[in-house]
Amino acid sequence: LKIGIVAVQGAVSEHTDAVDGALKNLGARGEHVIVRRPEQAREVDALIIPGGESTTIAKLLDKFEIRNTVITRAREGMPALGTCAGCILLAEEGDLEVDKTGTKLLGLMHMAVDRNAFGRQRESFEAMLRVEGFEDPFEAVFIRAPAITRTWNDCKPLSSFQGKIVMARQENLIATAFHPELTGDTRVHETLINMV
Ligand code: GLN
Repeated sequence: LKIGIVAVQGAVSEHTDAVDGALKNLGARGEHVIVRRPEQAREVDALIIPGGESTTIAKLLDKFEIRNTVITRAREGMPALGTCAGCILLAEEGDLEVDKTGTKLLGLMHMAVDRNAFGRQRESFEAMLRVEGFEDPFEAVFIRAPAITRTWNDCKPLSSFQGKIVMARQENLIATAFHPELTGDTRVHETLINMV
């Protein structure tokens, strides 16, 4: 199995560790793959879009010419996980700030996002989340986190915090407003790998 991580900007190395840990826990043979070129995006079995700055990542997806490959493969069924900025990019609709900055979303998931939903004064925090499909609560780290304000059609909320949706799934696609790669709990990454 080749689990790709889009590595144009943002929290990449934490995801490589989480992928390695998840593969080990599942007893699956595989490896993480850094994705910066279209041919790398074509050869992976699953893909992670990490946190960082959604505006910057969006621009670099075009510069590195991987935007269209990511969109096509995700539409064809390749499992993908977007965390934080990656969650914003997966969405079909952004908020005013996404519009104002001209951030070009991937538009893959039937959901709308609010880019700084938890406010700037509350830069980062942790919360124990109840996640549909997980037996035990998930310790989630939020860093200048977005929220999912709305989902429609086949996109379903999997977790909420303070009345805001913070995780959703649509078939082969998973979005988390938080960073699941930071605590050593690899269940979100295992869910992605299990979809392959
Ligand atoms: N608020 C950031 C953005 O708009 C995301 C923060 C993060 O990924 N940790 O891109």
